Amino acid sequence: MSAEVTSYLRQHQKTIAPLHKDYSLRFWDLSLAGNNREFEKALVESKERYLKVYNNRGEFRQLREWKHADLQLDEFDDRLLKLVHDAFLPNQIDEHVLREIVERETQIENLFNTFRANFDGDNVSDNQLRDILRDETDINRRRRAWEASKQIGHEIAPQLLELVAIRNREARNLGYADYYAMMFELQEIDEQWVFSLFDRLEQLSDAAFTAMKAELDSALKEKYGITDGESYPWLYSDPFFQEFPSAGASESLDDVFKDANIEALTRSHYESIGLDIVDLLGRADLYEREGKSQHAFCMDVDHEGDVRVLCNIRKNERWMSTMLHEFGHAVYDKYNDRILPFLLRTPAHTLTTEAIAMLNGRMSKNTEWLIKIAGLSSGEAQRVSAAAFKSLRSEMLIFLRWAITLVRFERELYRNAGQNLNELWWEFVARFQKVTPPPDRSRSDWASKNHLATSPVYYQNYVLGELMASQLLQHIHKQVVKSESYVGDRAVGGFLVGKVFKPGALYDWNTMLRKATGEDLNPTHFIAQFVK
Ligand SMILES: [Zn+2]
Repeated sequence: MSAEVTSYLRQHQKTIAPLHKDYSLRFWDLSLAGNNREFEKALVESKERYLKVYNNRGEFRQLREWKHADLQLDEFDDRLLKLVHDAFLPNQIDEHVLREIVERETQIENLFNTFRANFDGDNVSDNQLRDILRDETDINRRRRAWEASKQIGHEIAPQLLELVAIRNREARNLGYADYYAMMFELQEIDEQWVFSLFDRLEQLSDAAFTAMKAELDSALKEKYGITDGESYPWLYSDPFFQEFPSAGASESLDDVFKDANIEALTRSHYESIGLDIVDLLGRADLYEREGKSQHAFCMDVDHEGDVRVLCNIRKNERWMSTMLHEFGHAVYDKYNDRILPFLLRTPAHTLTTEAIAMLNGRMSKNTEWLIKIAGLSSGEAQRVSAAAFKSLRSEMLIFLRWAITLVRFERELYRNAGQNLNELWWEFVARFQKVTPPPDRSRSDWASKNHLATSPVYYQNYVLGELMASQLLQHIHKQVVKSESYVGDRAVGGFLVGKVFKPGALYDWNTMLRKATGEDLNPTHFIAQFVK
């Protein structure tokens, strides 16, 4: 029997590898070309071919039997069987429904890629609105830019709600309470554990967040000449208040990067920890162009080294950090063990690849990094270092509270989409982010967040990733470099390759973390680093 399973798994991977590659290449093409009907159609067809494999009922029945039998498989096959079974499960739905879902998802994704908001009579990009929210001091113009950033939500909301209804209906047919619960189980994350962890993080961060925000608000109000007590969302440089407004800090880190070569600094960073990204930079598409996707991502095209990063670099701290982040994903994909079978040559989990991306993305605010990599004199570095750590800490607190808002909202979206979601959104924003809702606003502002539509039930991975990044950093300090250092030491790369990247998806995420650091995911490292 186990020989039969081995042979099936080998054949399955032979089938899926070229389909995965084809889909990745078409996704890449569409992200670069933007609004292109032909590419959009090609992507949908490619995804359908891929999903059709996982739609097969007979194969799924066989997999389920094998999964419940005691087969004494070897380590690779045992893990593969579970992952393949879990990939089949959510696709056990009618072929025409599967097709409809893919079409709807692609349409929404493309709308996000190509939408230009109307601002004061002009069509503007995300980056242009962000520039206004970063630099503009006229509060009325800030408010209009913030409102413009929400326009896409009103386009997306009805389409997204239809998609949520379909996802839920199909998940219920498969025996789950809803799509949200199904996705948690398939991602090997315990929903109850995550929500009680979030309760704990909310309580532990409350005092630190409240104090940090009061200081930030009063600095911003003074800057914009506002006298009233309200903290409306357009005070902040990010449309969702998910990032720290660096223009509100006394020392702006953007000055450090205004003449920098962001690409070269990214290379130096990874070189300094012993990881080579020259080939990855060669395959990347890094600068803004008309019609190109405005976001940033990394994709592993073939699990054989064709790893591609898309960015839209501007010379500021946000893009420095984003480049370090995306190439964190890229080195994880590049340095997996080629001995592993195709489906295991990938990160253990979304949250583990986010952890590596975040660990490195944080560095653009790190004093040691600013000296060793960005080349600041120690005098300059001293001057910006206090502000740098303060802004990193603020960023973590702000992101944590924002993520709690979004994750809790998303669960409600799937549990009960019929409730007043517009109202619930602002209730959560007020409660967790402590931002004053705009007066009399009842619009689908929540739907302007692309993750809800295009990366469903994903956001908790960012928080778990941040916790894991702090745990890895603490382990690197104590056990690997045995100092408070990170950059400039090749042992860091050696540890990451050996303990995190090479095992690929052979172990579930918590087992991998335990093998690498000696303990399960433990939030105390993050709390010690940023909250206390
Ligand atoms: Zn990421």
